Amino acid sequence: MTELTMQEYIDQAEKDLLHTYNRYQIVLDKGEGVHLYDIEGKEYLDFVAGISVFALGYGNKEYNDALKNQIDKVIHTSNYYYNVPAIEAARALKKYSGMDRVFFTNSGAEAIEGAIKTARKYGYTRDGHTDHEIIAMNHSFHGRTMGALSVTGNPHYREAFEPGIGNIKFADYNDLESVKKLVNDKTIAIILETVQGEGGLTPASEEFLKGIREICDEKDILMILDEIQCGMGRTGYPFAFMKYGVKPDVLTVAKALGCGVPIGAFTMTEKVGQASLVAGDHGTTYGGNPLCCAAAAKVLEIMERDDIPSKARETGEYLWAKLDEVMNEFDAIKEHRGSGLMQGLLFDRPVSAIINSALKKGLILINAGADIIRFVPPLVIEKSDVDTMIGILKEAISENV
Ligand SMILES: *Cc1c(COP(=O)(O)O)cnc(C)c1O
Repeated sequence: MTELTMQEYIDQAEKDLLHTYNRYQIVLDKGEGVHLYDIEGKEYLDFVAGISVFALGYGNKEYNDALKNQIDKVIHTSNYYYNVPAIEAARALKKYSGMDRVFFTNSGAEAIEGAIKTARKYGYTRDGHTDHEIIAMNHSFHGRTMGALSVTGNPHYREAFEPGIGNIKFADYNDLESVKKLVNDKTIAIILETVQGEGGLTPASEEFLKGIREICDEKDILMILDEIQCGMGRTGYPFAFMKYGVKPDVLTVAKALGCGVPIGAFTMTEKVGQASLVAGDHGTTYGGNPLCCAAAAKVLEIMERDDIPSKARETGEYLWAKLDEVMNEFDAIKEHRGSGLMQGLLFDRPVSAIINSALKKGLILINAGADIIRFVPPLVIEKSDVDTMIGILKEAISENV
């Protein structure tokens, strides 16, 4: 293929790819540390990390070598046989999360599908019938497949695709009374993000999370925590729930689990494992393949060994102080939310113009909803990178408010 200019590649992409994204007008080529480069060689400081994915930064030699070695051995075998990377990744994820049973998927949405099926099967096993209900949260985001969409509390994403899977009710996040009102004898699960990502970078309050745990214990309801975005060190703990001293019955993981290769997981306690999915109930061709599991095993090894969550917590506190300063400087910023290296600034207007200005100045940022700028950098980001980002951010805001 002849080499095209950046604009020619973009024009070609717009003819061939289904237009489900309004993409930023750059073609990315490679990454190094916390920087990305477009095909013209322009450098960008990356405060998105592929949406909370590339936690260890780009070009991590240990990670790359683990993948290269696995490619030369075997990439795929199917789940009808055991493979060492999957066995090692499962053990590592159990240890890191405190959960007992692991099912590897290819994406976050697929992990949510598995969690929903786990809950429904748990109810079926217990009660012998199938009309159970799941309580989900307004402003939640759990993915784009039909099941995950059905528990996503944003009508804008769901509208054109109704009806969903049914028997889903929505409560208000951080409003325990609104959850209690929906609980009845049919309720089998309550699903929520420990820190809402897409829906606005809102952490669960301690009262809310503990309250949900109590309801679930009292009524034999499964507490499903979606930590696809906020897990894997991002909030300064291996998983965000650990800060609260509560434990879920089912936990979903993805994004940073593979740091770029497509892998997710739904995990559960032994009790749930023994009373839900059995042989024949669920499967995947690619899920748990040796290549992706070699990546996940290495990511988990590095995260634990190098105590990446502590680093994220420390840099997260620094980022918090700096973004507070920015908020005080501009009236257009209404609120500062988040936890660890997962933060957001809520503006009184759409933020796309600010993000585009920042991009021109070599800083990659992303929105969450129309009016929030989301900050989810690689977890290995340094304080000096935060300073650089803040400098560009202030310029970009000044030009647009
Ligand atoms: C990204 C995300 C998902 C969906 O993951 P995909 O890999 O895009 O399917 C689900 N839940 C949360 C909280 C997410 O941030």
